[in-house]
Amino acid sequence: MKSILDNKPELRLQIGQVAEVAGYLWQKGWAERNGGNITVNITEQIDDALRGLPAIGGPHPIGKTLPHLKGCWFYCKGTGRRMRDLARDPMANGSVIRITPDCAHYEIVADLPVAPTSELPSHLAVHDWLLTKGSPYRASLHTHPIELVALTHNRKWLEKDAATRMLWSMIPETKAFCPRGLGIVPYMMPSSVELAEATIRTLADNYDVVMWEKHGVFAVDTDIMDAFDQVDVLNKATQIYIAARGMGFEPDGMTDAQMQELSRAFGLPK
Ligand SMILES: [Zn+2]
Repeated sequence: MKSILDNKPELRLQIGQVAEVAGYLWQKGWAERNGGNITVNITEQIDDALRGLPAIGGPHPIGKTLPHLKGCWFYCKGTGRRMRDLARDPMANGSVIRITPDCAHYEIVADLPVAPTSELPSHLAVHDWLLTKGSPYRASLHTHPIELVALTHNRKWLEKDAATRMLWSMIPETKAFCPRGLGIVPYMMPSSVELAEATIRTLADNYDVVMWEKHGVFAVDTDIMDAFDQVDVLNKATQIYIAARGMGFEPDGMTDAQMQELSRAFGLPK
């Protein structure tokens, strides 16, 4: 079957990376049913030939006006689609969309008219905010990492940076590869405007990964593999904490001095 990805190696690479990450999310048990979402700003991989393609769906309203997304293109998981299916066939379970000049609608320019995720307005609001501040980040990920979600069922870990300090102290790589830590958003209704706004506020408070209490994480980074890696190192640290507790003791954790030494050695932001 002909695809808009034919002879577009850079775009194929980006979407292939989304499929690879979707497979990891399923393998890790973080993506039950149609759980989780991925959106990637692919504007830099779009050439004139792609720009000239006719839309096969839309224009559909986004539900808000996002002035920095004029002319931007995104790959997004399809609404109701499963990560494990996206891993196998990203063009049948995700959608390529472009934002119309009024910044309030999108058109589907893809192989199949797959409707994008119902979380599109909140994901696009995050991408709009990233562009506002000149961020190089192009990918956003929402998923349900089991151990991290379990951690939020205890109020102790919902205080600002309580979980960050504990997770960083489990193994040095956590701070090195998730150097801004874990921001916390208290429980809010999934898909709500309030949750989207609180997520952007928390990202703006200098975090790349935000924990939604008793729900999941929302992570941003330059590409989807890096966003996944940040969540993966955090969840690994949580598993080490659980393993120590399972052995019957509270883990000591690295000392503050050891963590400050890491920050100096690697030039970390916190
Ligand atoms: Zn969710």
